Amino acid sequence: MELLRTKDELQSWVAHRSNRSRALVPTMGALHQGHASLIDAAVKLVGSGDVLTTIFVNPKQFGPNEDLASYPRRLEADLRLCEKHGSTAVFAPGADHMYEGNSTVSIHESDLSRRWCGASRPGHFDGVCTVVAKLFLLARPNTALFGEKDFQQLAVIQRLTRDLDFPVEIVGCPTVREADGLAMSSRNTYLSEEERAAAPILHQTLRNVANDIYRGNFPSPKAAREAIIERISSETLARIDYVDVVDSDSLEPLDSFDNHLPRLLAAVFFGNIRLIDNVGVPAGIR
Ligand code: AMP
Repeated sequence: MELLRTKDELQSWVAHRSNRSRALVPTMGALHQGHASLIDAAVKLVGSGDVLTTIFVNPKQFGPNEDLASYPRRLEADLRLCEKHGSTAVFAPGADHMYEGNSTVSIHESDLSRRWCGASRPGHFDGVCTVVAKLFLLARPNTALFGEKDFQQLAVIQRLTRDLDFPVEIVGCPTVREADGLAMSSRNTYLSEEERAAAPILHQTLRNVANDIYRGNFPSPKAAREAIIERISSETLARIDYVDVVDSDSLEPLDSFDNHLPRLLAAVFFGNIRLIDNVGVPAGIR
């Protein structure tokens, strides 16, 4: 496995492997089994081609009061995980290397980014779109893999790719969870013991309400949303940021279940740690 530390090193690696298909797995490091599942899927997808994992804590997607400084960084362990799962190369640029000077150009997606994480974290998706576009231009992948764990991010990246004609196929991968259902996240390590014990309520509630929607037990998306809010609020350590029942494709909030594939989205604080999760409702609501 090759370690590439600069954009020049990345571009010359790409130039030497121009006849091979290439899958890109962008991450911010502190890798866990969720990230590993993306690398595994990429390895399967490219066959004898290359899998390029990127590790970069992108300052442009953090707000001024967010956890950029304290975000976990552990490159050595990350490289071992990448190698074990079959990455051909890792691009891990230094903190100041990706953006030169004051870097005044950014990419703004103006529809799917408006609500939920986009509203709670102003500028977040501009940062995501900008760094993903840069990675696409530098690495020129055929395929790029992203987790459904960040469902809104996946939708925004699909739109970015479509609207800017990037010749990249975007592949979404299912959320990998702990045994108790908590979605794996680099931020889980910051939960206190009590917060960690409380956190599975997020997934449990979304899953139970999704099952009840499927069984026809909720007359409307509004009733389902209220049930989610009530159940999560019963946990005293949980503080809801947002909860919504949306269309899986447009991400628009739903007024009715008719002809829609609903997706339940939520962000919840446990102490200072903000966790997000989402669950789909199977097709064919009864
Ligand atoms: P991050 O390092 O948090 O920016 O995540 C990098 C990629 O891994 C994104 O595409 C995430 O959606 C994906 N990812 C993070 N956690 C999980 C998980 N638990 N299951 C599947 N994919 C994940």
